[in-house]
Amino acid sequence: MNVIRRHMLTEWMLSRMLKLPLSEIHREAHQIEHTLSSEVAERLQAELEDPRFCPHGNPLPGFEDEAENWVPLSSLDPGVTAIVRRIQESLEEDYDILAFLESKGVVPGAQFKVMELLPFNETVMLSIDGNEVILGLRLASDIYVSRLE
Ligand SMILES: [Zn+2]
Ligand SMILES: [Zn+2]
Repeated sequence: MNVIRRHMLTEWMLSRMLKLPLSEIHREAHQIEHTLSSEVAERLQAELEDPRFCPHGNPLPGFEDEAENWVPLSSLDPGVTAIVRRIQESLEEDYDILAFLESKGVVPGAQFKVMELLPFNETVMLSIDGNEVILGLRLASDIYVSRLE
């Protein structure tokens, strides 16, 4: 089994079965993913019902197409409602950013509304679960979402 798939399945195991936070599963998965036997990896894949994305929303090898309609959060206009889909691979290593996003509810599957976008300030304000969250546009450009029409 491909090493990326093995990594993502291990993330799901840590996330779903052990309930570890999103900020910790990438690092923890790296510690143990190589020690899984092929049998256990195959078993995980079946048990998790062939996931197409890791818990951060990054597509498994072969499923990149399914993410192609997602757009950067930073590209949305104020007033738009959308769902968080993907926190880019490059951010998976950043514990502080993931812990921050998680504490604010900015995780795959969460619905939000864009309240304000201030290009001169390089910020976007979201309403998510009744709370206001301010993100820098640079960070928001690494978070992919799908619009709700
Ligand atoms: Zn990862
Ligand atoms: Zn991941």
